[in-house]
Amino acid sequence: MPGLQYNINAILKAFFPDREVRVIADGEPVHDPKLLELPVFMRCVNGMVLLTYFDSEISSGLSDPKYVDRTVPLTHLYDLLCELTGRTLPWGDLTGVRPTKLAMTGLRAGADDKEILDYMQGYHHVSEEKAMLALDIARRESQILSGIDHKNGYSLYIDIPFCPTTCLYCSFTSYSYAAWRDRIDEYLGALFREIDYAAEEISRIPDTVYIGGGTPTSLEAEQLEKLLKYVTDRIDVKKAMEFTCEAGRPDSITREKLEIMKRYGVTRISVNPQTMQQKTLDIIGRRTNPEQVRAAFGLARETGFDNINMDIILGLPGEGEEEVGDTLRQIEDMGPDALTVHSLAVKRASGLREHLDEIGIEALKNTDETMRLAAGSADRMGMKPYYLYRQKNMSGNFENTGYSIPGREGIYNILIMEEVQSIVALGAGAISKRVDYPETGNNMASEEDEYSENERTAVNITRCENPKDIDNYISRIDELILRKKKLYSQ
Ligand code: SF4
Repeated sequence: MPGLQYNINAILKAFFPDREVRVIADGEPVHDPKLLELPVFMRCVNGMVLLTYFDSEISSGLSDPKYVDRTVPLTHLYDLLCELTGRTLPWGDLTGVRPTKLAMTGLRAGADDKEILDYMQGYHHVSEEKAMLALDIARRESQILSGIDHKNGYSLYIDIPFCPTTCLYCSFTSYSYAAWRDRIDEYLGALFREIDYAAEEISRIPDTVYIGGGTPTSLEAEQLEKLLKYVTDRIDVKKAMEFTCEAGRPDSITREKLEIMKRYGVTRISVNPQTMQQKTLDIIGRRTNPEQVRAAFGLARETGFDNINMDIILGLPGEGEEEVGDTLRQIEDMGPDALTVHSLAVKRASGLREHLDEIGIEALKNTDETMRLAAGSADRMGMKPYYLYRQKNMSGNFENTGYSIPGREGIYNILIMEEVQSIVALGAGAISKRVDYPETGNNMASEEDEYSENERTAVNITRCENPKDIDNYISRIDELILRKKKLYSQ
């Protein structure tokens, strides 16, 4: 059962984030000496799990490491891990990306608050604080979605995979603008072919439009204008409920680009400090500074943007409550309309991890305290949490939460995170999704959810991915358009 095995692996990783863990396939010999070199491994047979782990306490001072075997029913795995480590996880045994879906499913089924909270806390061991957060968000999302015919509509996503430089923690498709400067037109040419396809074959007006990346504003002003003109000439974007263009890197923002975005109807932008601590910005290789953030934000307000989101990351190297508190105070002084709070997620082999080893900072820790500081700051700015998701390898096993002043939510974020609407996604690395509701009569195979059984809902989802590699994307553009035609024409 691949989905189940993935869950187990994710739970083990959450409890042992710094150890190599492995779930052993059926038939693989448990006492293979090579497996014994692993700090944690586990075998799952007939509903029972055998967990073997290196016990550093027992082994302390001994030349031979000691391993401990424990066998329990699979359903008791979470309890066993709590017992062994003395820890609990904020989201209990939920390992999926979208824990709010559980609360949302409960609301749709007519369950009351108590039933939903009891289920999340009692059955999945979610903390009271997180269960209440999930329920609060699910209610807000339901209210926002009730004003949108999301089942029959679609949203449009356009990817500009270039950035001024690459941040060390980056997990997105991002290429250096400087390295691609001479070939941007070639990329836009392929992208325009996809835009033509969307304009010709999908006649409806999108509910939301989102230009992301990368950093769309890393394009030169005239390239950005060419893109926005091309899209808006062919698709009636002005009738969409929301038109977002990420302007994440403050070093890519100019008055001219902001005016262009305004002229072509962009309603929402994102100016992302991540942190206002220069020392941290240097460590994470984000070559910007707090002054640029303030200047870019001020320019955006002057240009008339009244829906500006800011992203921050908690758990950054060397940052504790003092640094996070200071960043939040500076953000409150600027007064954005929305704040998205991320918990750092670093892949083991990432540039950041290597860099940290070099400079001797080992701990990448996010804590309850810093999460609460961010929630308190959002509250002081009059914001409410409105969407939430989780990633693999998240610091502290927490979550990313979007807060906004009521009425300034990023609706696209809800639609994509709750997977309640088809997304036509264009550009390198973009992932299109077709979402079918069984009652609409579409008869597509049920999705095998790659993350968690818990997240399954009553929709069928089919994905279609564009390659991340830009050369590959450009050279295969005809085939990629055909694949999209097939996806949406069934
Ligand atoms: S700005 Fe964002 S997308 Fe670009 S390199 Fe940094 S983290 Fe990645």
